[in-house]
Amino acid sequence: MTGARKHVAAMAPYALADLGGTGGRPAASLAQNESFRPPCPGTFEAVMAAMADAALYPDPDWTELRSMIAARHDVDPDTILCGSGSLELIGCLARAFAGPHRAVLAPRHAYPYFRSAAQASEARFDTAPESDCTASADALLEAVRPDTGCVFLANPGNPTGTRIPGDEIRRLRSSLREDILLVIDEAYGEFADHLDAPLLDMAATGNTVVLRTFSKAYGLAGCRVGWGTFPAGIAVEVRKVLNPNNVSAISQAAARAALQDDAYMRATCAQTAERRDRTARKLAALGVRCLSSSTNFLLLDLESRERARSAEARLRSGGAVLRAQGAADLSHCLRMTIGRERELDNAIRLLETWTREDTP
Ligand SMILES: *Cc1c(COP(=O)(O)O)cnc(C)c1O
Repeated sequence: MTGARKHVAAMAPYALADLGGTGGRPAASLAQNESFRPPCPGTFEAVMAAMADAALYPDPDWTELRSMIAARHDVDPDTILCGSGSLELIGCLARAFAGPHRAVLAPRHAYPYFRSAAQASEARFDTAPESDCTASADALLEAVRPDTGCVFLANPGNPTGTRIPGDEIRRLRSSLREDILLVIDEAYGEFADHLDAPLLDMAATGNTVVLRTFSKAYGLAGCRVGWGTFPAGIAVEVRKVLNPNNVSAISQAAARAALQDDAYMRATCAQTAERRDRTARKLAALGVRCLSSSTNFLLLDLESRERARSAEARLRSGGAVLRAQGAADLSHCLRMTIGRERELDNAIRLLETWTREDTP
């Protein structure tokens, strides 16, 4: 059998959440940051109608979708590229702009896919310290090396849930070497839009890409639609390495319909925030601290790796799957998606019995 190229053979497979329950009981996933609401009602009809043309390839330029995104966010449609999820855009950015002498830099607890994308491009992956699990513009600037090619920053972050203000990101850009590509991943941007002025215009300021997705606030993770604003010179190169027919006609139709119901998306964000903060208070009452979150998930601090493992196993055996953390210095944490009410209640109940049994 042919061996893979050295840098690929050396990579660990990307670790998605293990969603298996135990004892044949189907587990409720609170592990993938999916929305607890179905997509808005208009998407169902739109998807059915799009099937009529499913014998044809989709619009490779996402023309209608881009113009709707542009109108919604007040940006130039020509700056937008769409991806099969923002994961595709992250992977293609790394493929085009990172490599052996173009290292990728990210905060300490960066989104794990940034590392995979860097490694697949044969790029070194460097990290900068955070303070209180929050990215720091100054720490990133200090960690820049002569061969740094790209900085990837998720804001709000995943798995941390924390965010830095938009002004800090603008300051990072203006202090960063001009030849370094800055990628700002706003997968949870809709949950934080009320906190800050949007950054989507930063594509116009030079070497900066801002990414968004329909997977989280719009509840369309299964449709795989991401997008971003790109400077023209970056977009040209990324397009060369994208799948030329990357977003299915069905998914483009779903995303367009989702954009037509802004109220539904905003209600999702408001309900999520309310439920998230209520959940954090219930956890605090059990003695479980969470990081402050601007997303649809919470990072629970179980104080030690052993307690995190024990809580995770207890939750799993009761039918609730949380996301354990691989990074050595987050192994005392579990990430909990703000899922359906019943699933959250079950998880809290399980943690309550667990704290009673486990706490000396
Ligand atoms: C969920 C997530 C993504 C992936 O989004 P898709 O559009 O579904 O590919 C990207 N970045 C971060 C930080 C995420 O949490």
